[in-house]
Amino acid sequence: MTMTADRSSALYERALEVIPGGVNSPVRAFGSVGGTPRFVAEGEGARITDVDGHRYLDYVCSWGPLILGHAQPDIVAAARAALERGSSFGTPTRGEVELAEAIVERVPSVEQVRLTSSGTEAGMSAVRLARGATGRHKVVKFAGHYHGHSDALLAAAGSGVATLGIPGTPGVTEGATADTIVVPWNDREAVEEAFAEHGDDIAVLACEPVAANMGVVPPDEGYLAFLRGITARHGALLLFDEVMTGFRVARGGAQEHYGVTPDLTTFGKVVGGGFPLAAFGGSADVMRHLAPTGPVYQAGTLSGNPVAVAAGLTQLRLLDDAAYKTLDGLADRLIDGLANAFQQAGIGVHVQRCASLFNVFFADAPVRDFAGAQTADTERFAAFFRGMLARGFHLPPSQYEAIFVSLAHTTEDIDATVAAATETAAELS
Ligand code: PMP
Repeated sequence: MTMTADRSSALYERALEVIPGGVNSPVRAFGSVGGTPRFVAEGEGARITDVDGHRYLDYVCSWGPLILGHAQPDIVAAARAALERGSSFGTPTRGEVELAEAIVERVPSVEQVRLTSSGTEAGMSAVRLARGATGRHKVVKFAGHYHGHSDALLAAAGSGVATLGIPGTPGVTEGATADTIVVPWNDREAVEEAFAEHGDDIAVLACEPVAANMGVVPPDEGYLAFLRGITARHGALLLFDEVMTGFRVARGGAQEHYGVTPDLTTFGKVVGGGFPLAAFGGSADVMRHLAPTGPVYQAGTLSGNPVAVAAGLTQLRLLDDAAYKTLDGLADRLIDGLANAFQQAGIGVHVQRCASLFNVFFADAPVRDFAGAQTADTERFAAFFRGMLARGFHLPPSQYEAIFVSLAHTTEDIDATVAAATETAAELS
């Protein structure tokens, strides 16, 4: 089954001349799965259409933000109305107060929140704030967790860093990561050792409460509570990076799902409704250290952009408890279907999930950490990806990512996906 991608190929050739690797974010390049990245012309609901006119059922959904699907009419209307009033003012606006209130209402650990334009900025700023507020230097992070591409947090990162197998990133100096301690996810002893050795100088322990940038690797039972306990005992802050999980795995994010309360939280993706918007927040006591109230500097020309805020606020308002139930039900159906498809084909997979956040590891054992994720069969993942793409199903082009369903997907869409996966799996076996 072949599908010509002539126009995508032609654009890719042009892009390679003027954009490094032809893309503005590395994983888009299909580096680990092969082939030409599809240049998308438009999206509607659960579907995207590329420049060659091929339609795909989309399971990337802009890597998470589009929980309601593409070009959702209420979001389009809200963004358009905001845009017509002016794209940016660089002054406070009503919308950003309303969005901050909406976040604070949904996530009780967040009393105050600052808006940024990307998850990278949110993570970088939250760590700076933690250092400024505690007067300490060190950051503990987990191998395979991705908190954006700020220097101190790029050590042993997931997502594209993992997909491309980049060991450490040239350009990040030893000095920039000298205060970053990397430990294996779901490992208690390693965290205990880090605190035994450096406890008095650890400003913050950062984690994705459900790791979703090395595939999806949920926390072991009790692990987040363990992290809460050890950080509190040592006077370090606990940072949940909920850029993936926030407003997705539950209305109040992973902290609601698991009942563990961090000191600081970062958000992105869903909160921006498909626009460049992210946020970080925490208790008023910690947040008051930020300028202009306090001395920790953080800023942004387009922070709290009115168009992005209008889109994000509209999206959050549409996500009630019933929406999450529907989303989780769609994920249940897809996960069961995929598991069956591979079982029938005699292919060992582990589908790992938290609510609607999931992925497929071609692995013999469940994956608990980054080392485990690295033993999964990426060749087989690539073959699965290519088989699905050829059948009109657009999956994330790397096993080190999550698969995203949206509320625009229907049960018929899911069933068609399972049928295609069953055919593809039969080809692979
Ligand atoms: N944290 C997590 C958990 C993420 O998944 C990502 C992006 N995938 C980021 C931070 C960085 O966000 P951005 O790409 O908006 O900078």
